[in-house]
Amino acid sequence: MPAIVTAEEIHLTRSEFTEALIWLDGKRFSLADFQMFKAIYDGDYPKMLLKTSRQVGKSTTASNFIIAESITRPFHKTLYIAPTAEQTHKFSSLRVGKSLAYSPFLSKYVIQDRVLVRLYKNGSENSFSYCLDSADRIRGISADRILLDEVQDLILPEVMPVAVECMRQSDMQFQILAGTPKTFDNAIEDYWLDSSQTEWVMKCSGCSKWTFVDSEKGLKPHGPVCVGCGTLLNPKNGQWVDMKSGSDMKGFHISQPIMPRNIPICWPESTDPSSRYVKALMRWKEIMSALEGPKAYPIAKFRNEILGVSDSQGVRLIVREDLTKLCTGHPSMPIRPDPRFNGDIIKVSIGADFSGGGIDQVSTTAIAVLGLTKQRKLRLLYYRLFIGEHPIKELAAIREVLAMYQPELVACDAGEGLLQIEELRKQMNWYHRIQKIRYGAGGAHIKWNAENGSYSVNRTAAIDSFMMAVLRAEFIFPNNIEAMTPAFDHILAEFTDVTNAGRKIWQHSKSDPDDFLHAIIYARLAMQMATGEIDLTS
Ligand SMILES: [Zn+2]
Repeated sequence: MPAIVTAEEIHLTRSEFTEALIWLDGKRFSLADFQMFKAIYDGDYPKMLLKTSRQVGKSTTASNFIIAESITRPFHKTLYIAPTAEQTHKFSSLRVGKSLAYSPFLSKYVIQDRVLVRLYKNGSENSFSYCLDSADRIRGISADRILLDEVQDLILPEVMPVAVECMRQSDMQFQILAGTPKTFDNAIEDYWLDSSQTEWVMKCSGCSKWTFVDSEKGLKPHGPVCVGCGTLLNPKNGQWVDMKSGSDMKGFHISQPIMPRNIPICWPESTDPSSRYVKALMRWKEIMSALEGPKAYPIAKFRNEILGVSDSQGVRLIVREDLTKLCTGHPSMPIRPDPRFNGDIIKVSIGADFSGGGIDQVSTTAIAVLGLTKQRKLRLLYYRLFIGEHPIKELAAIREVLAMYQPELVACDAGEGLLQIEELRKQMNWYHRIQKIRYGAGGAHIKWNAENGSYSVNRTAAIDSFMMAVLRAEFIFPNNIEAMTPAFDHILAEFTDVTNAGRKIWQHSKSDPDDFLHAIIYARLAMQMATGEIDLTS
């Protein structure tokens, strides 16, 4: 490793750098057909969202961006995050690594080339990580820029606060989120609605109106048309226009119908099969056959993957009525166990889900107290959501609940709650009675992890199991719908999506917190441990 970084100043914009120095598939990379990407390369937006369809060069853009920025800014640290290990390995090796290796002037800039860490001669570094269900893996990495890819498959409300925390020491703190929309419930849609909603707006040569494509309405056999007069639109006559002002996130919508390579009218007419015109004819034909051909995509998939817009709702396993019909218990939730429960409750367990400090003011801490009845039902004795409360007051209130209910076992999330757990253990002198839970993406439903003294819980399986328990009427909630509504909202916030790799994950939108759901899941797990229902000796 060189002791001193020699000054080799490079005065180029990211797009100039990319076109001058990056080679792709044996050719110098060119943005000639991708003029709309220039604004993305060269804008210095602290927060940028790329809401894209499939096959518009999102990964190439992300890779070029990382390389250009790493080489032009000495000691610049980039953290790339995708949902799965495979996506991250592919992106790091086949995009960034390959581009560097095959770009004649760039390969010498890399002094360490590993899949998860790449170090450049100028002191810049790229870290590559992944986190599907839990953000634990990225804790402690430090970065000037975070780039979250395939965000539709990340649980953004959980990953984002931890990723932003990685930039705490940086003076720059740049973020890029990139993904293909799925459901209206998906967090990418929340971020889009909060963003500048910047669209590629094309001027109609027939009626001079400006239009952009966000539905299949204007897609005709020869290309996208003006819905006013039916004239074919030429994406080369387009420009980016913010549809919303005053946002601190620049959101670009990039779709297949605005890519000149797909649009015949962008090219001089020709019969030569190798001409851009004939290729564009074929590409547009494919797009139209995905819309209305014999093997057309379901319309939701077409809108997501070709138009790059959200469509359809996420799937929920339970509805509100499944919860309200379990509201048959005593209506009050006393802080002190009601004497009426005394004869009926055999064991008590508590679950707590700690907030991440509330970066977006949405995250909350939740605590749930469950009592096991003689009929083997789980009665919710007490719950509380702490919204924006001071951490010390919050901890004191939780300690009071623990002292009152004297649970057999307490389970808390170790992700955000490590400090609180240690504090509670010390204050209560309950070193074994308070257990740490850590969500993970795969593996056994629950497993002891000696390395960090916590239980690893498969997040998807744990939520599945809870939802099934609701359907089996395993719970009794207080007969007080009004008091239960915030808790039920947290449970109903959760919906399933299928990732591109075909894995089911539970998601919730940024504006709909789900902390009570996790608190009651932890309380149920604690009860299952306390009763030996979960055998932890195997
Ligand atoms: Zn028109």
